[in-house]
Amino acid sequence: MRFGATVLTRTRCEQIAPQAGGWIATLVSSSERRSILARAVVNATGPWVSRFVRDVSPVRTTHGVRLVKGSHIVVRRLFTHRFAYIFQSEDRRIVFAIPYEHDFTLIGTTDVDYDGEPSAVRIDAHEIRYLCSVVNRYFVRQITPAEVVWSYSGVRPLLADESSDASSVTRDYALELDRYPAPLLSVFGGKITTYRKLAENAVDMLASELGSRAKRWTATATLPGGDLPSGSFAAFLRTVERRYPWLPVNLRRRYARAYGTRIDRVLGDAASLADLGRELLPQLYEREAEYLCREEWARTAEDILWRRTKLGLQLAAADFKRLDAWLENRSARASLTA
Ligand SMILES: Cc1cc2nc3c(=O)[nH]c(=O)nc-3n(C[C@H](O)[C@H](O)[C@H](O)COP(=O)(O)OP(=O)(O)OC[C@H]3O[C@@H](n4cnc5c(N)ncnc54)[C@H](O)[C@@H]3O)c2cc1C
Repeated sequence: MRFGATVLTRTRCEQIAPQAGGWIATLVSSSERRSILARAVVNATGPWVSRFVRDVSPVRTTHGVRLVKGSHIVVRRLFTHRFAYIFQSEDRRIVFAIPYEHDFTLIGTTDVDYDGEPSAVRIDAHEIRYLCSVVNRYFVRQITPAEVVWSYSGVRPLLADESSDASSVTRDYALELDRYPAPLLSVFGGKITTYRKLAENAVDMLASELGSRAKRWTATATLPGGDLPSGSFAAFLRTVERRYPWLPVNLRRRYARAYGTRIDRVLGDAASLADLGRELLPQLYEREAEYLCREEWARTAEDILWRRTKLGLQLAAADFKRLDAWLENRSARASLTA
C-alpha cells in the first residue's frame, strides 16, 4: 500500500491479549489464522465497537453505543435537475430525495432502534411505506412500494446519550483510550463528514502514547484520485476527453467520477475500446474489473456491482452470477500462475 500499511479484508480480529508489553492479536480469515504482535490497537469497528471491547479484548470502557437502523430506497428518477430536496415529515424527521446514479432518486432515511446483528440489517415493509409517504406529501408524482428498484440499510453506532428518540441522539463521537498493557483506542459514534477530524484526533492520541514525532500532513491531503490538476471536475473531464478520445461519453464520465486521477491506473496502456477487454456486463469491461480486484480488494460480483460501483442498479440477478463465474475463473488462473 502507498504508505506501507497491510490491509487484510474479510479478516476478523478474534481476540487481543496482553503479551510482551503489547497486544497479541488473533486474526482469522476463511483461509488462515494468524497472530501478530501490535504496539497499539484501534477499535474502529462501528456498530460492533462495544462487542469488540466485551468479547475480543480484556478491557472495559465507559462509553457505549445506541444502534439505530437507517434505510434508503431507490426509485426511477422523480426529477431531472441535480439538486437535492430536504423534506420534513409529520413526525418532524428529515427525509432527503437526492439525484442518484443519473437515472434514479435516492430517498432516505429512517431511524429505528435496532438490537439485532448489524450485518443482518434489512429494510422492512413499514420503513418502505414510511419513506414513500413522506415524499408523496411533496411530489406531484406519487410513488408506491412496488416502484422501489433497490434499497439498503445500515446501522448507525450512535454515541449513547439520554435521548429517548432515535432521531435526536447525538451524531458526535468519543474516543476512549485504555493503556493496559498497551494503547487500545476505541471509537464510539462518528460520521463520514467528520471522519478526517476523528482520524486526526485518534492518531494524535496514539502518537503521544507511542512517542512518535512524525509531522502532521493530512489536513490538506486529497484522497486517492482526488488530486484534480486545477481542482475543477469540469476541467478534469475535458482533460480525460483529450487523453482518451475513444472512450464512450458515459464511460468517460463514470470513470472520471469514480476514479478521479486514478483513471490512468484503471485504463493503463489502453489505446482503444478493444484494449479494455471483454464487456463482461453492460458498461463493465475486463480492465475495470481487473483494477477493482487488483487495487480495491474486490472479490465478488456484489463487491464490484454494489460496493465499488452502482452498476447493479441496471442489472439482473443472472448478471451477478455471470460475473461471479468470471471472478472464480480469474482466481483459479491466478493460483495456477502463482
Ligand atoms: C443509514 C445511515 C445513514 C448515514 N448517513 C450519514 C450521513 O448522511 N453523513 C455522514 O457523514 N455519515 C452518515 N452515516 C455514518 C457513516 O456511514 C459512518 O460514520 C461510517 O460508515 C463509519 O465508517 P467506519 O469505517 O468507521 O465503520 P464501519 O463502516 O461500520 O466499519 C466497521 C468495520 O469493522 C469491521 N469489524 C467489526 N468487528 C470486527 C472484528 N472483530 N475484526 C475485524 N473487523 C471487524 C466490520 O466488518 C466493518 O467492516 C450514516 C450511517 C448509516 C447507517
